[in-house]
Amino acid sequence: MQIPFSPPYIDQGVVDEVVDTLKTNWITTGPKVIAMEKEIVKLTSTKAAICVNSWTSGAILMLKWFGIKPGDEVIIPAYTYCATALSVLHCGATPVMVDINRDFCIDPEAVYKAITPKTKAIFAVDIAGWPCDYSKLMEIINRRGVKKLFRAESLKQTVLNRILLIADAAHSLGAKTNGHAAALESDVAIFSFHAVKNVTTAEGGCICLNLPGNFDIDAEYKYLKMYTLNGQNKNALEKAKGGGWRYDILFQGLKINMPDICAAIGLAQIKKYETLLLPMRKAIALKYKKAFEDFEVFELPPLFDHKRESSYHLFPLRIKNITEQQRDQIIDDIVSKEVVVNVHFVPLPMLTCFKNLGYSIHDFPMSYNQYSREISLPIYPQLSDAKIEFIVSTVINAVKNAMASKIEKKEKIEIAF
Ligand SMILES: *Cc1c(COP(=O)(O)O)cnc(C)c1O
Repeated sequence: MQIPFSPPYIDQGVVDEVVDTLKTNWITTGPKVIAMEKEIVKLTSTKAAICVNSWTSGAILMLKWFGIKPGDEVIIPAYTYCATALSVLHCGATPVMVDINRDFCIDPEAVYKAITPKTKAIFAVDIAGWPCDYSKLMEIINRRGVKKLFRAESLKQTVLNRILLIADAAHSLGAKTNGHAAALESDVAIFSFHAVKNVTTAEGGCICLNLPGNFDIDAEYKYLKMYTLNGQNKNALEKAKGGGWRYDILFQGLKINMPDICAAIGLAQIKKYETLLLPMRKAIALKYKKAFEDFEVFELPPLFDHKRESSYHLFPLRIKNITEQQRDQIIDDIVSKEVVVNVHFVPLPMLTCFKNLGYSIHDFPMSYNQYSREISLPIYPQLSDAKIEFIVSTVINAVKNAMASKIEKKEKIEIAF
């Protein structure tokens, strides 16, 4: 049974929305992007949403907006996708990596220890859609000693007057904390709409602003939109109108706007995200949970607790007490049955680019531990019950084979997840 890892959700609604865009003859940034931004604001209740052409470009934009420059430090987890670190490097600043906790989230105590007078921002990554402990991170940022260390060196830094907390929310559209969108817990949350994400625009991303009250959100929105368009004071739609040819370039912007043809794909999905697509992902996660939780060898990912709920973007299953080699062997076995699985993530210090910069995996034992035992299973709305059952039995058999023994079901004592 061929089971892909994460195909995009393309139904008739998506096709219709894209065709509609083509027929209007307006395919770059315009009304579909505005509509997409409105849907994201509706979903998250954040103060503003700015669509861009990727998470990565959105992150670079927000770091530049905050005035991040060579010599500055940005704290990030070692366990993430490379873009988190690369966005910092693209600004000439230094990514300061810290370890994670067992729930995949950045370790707030390690963050505290890594803060220096050069620290300008923190990226917390909601791995698999599980929100980080933002209230703890914000409490650390606001500690008197930490605020005293902060040196404001740009206009925006002067207005904020503390470290900027950015959510790498690439996985967590729809995740909740305390009953509201997890995106409300940070200053800035950035989503990815890359083809494998929960909602996709083929390539794309969105910056959600949740800056404190002393920022003029309307002004920041206009400024950031201009920033995505080369710092040009008129967008293409305005210029296309008769007599609108004259424009000015106000500052050195980037060129990272989202085209309408892409926004159309995401727009059709996001309209049914909370009512259909997210509940379908959750149902699959619960089926996996039920299938695996009775076995002692499996460690389930965090899905919900009294405070947080995941967006069920990934199902990062972990196997207890195995080596990296055994994990690789299990994956080979699963893939031989035509089920595509993945690993999220290879910690950054294990990748050549970051090794060459001097980072070492030995400094991040929990990141290595999680990585070495992790297998991400397929999870997406189109997955049928028959396929889920096939995935479950394939995984269980592969683990049995690798461990060269039978794997035991837990004794019937209720163990709280
Ligand atoms: C996908 C992803 C990104 C990058 O998103 P792009 O839209 O491809 O730039 C960043 N961070 C994490 C954790 C991701 O999974």
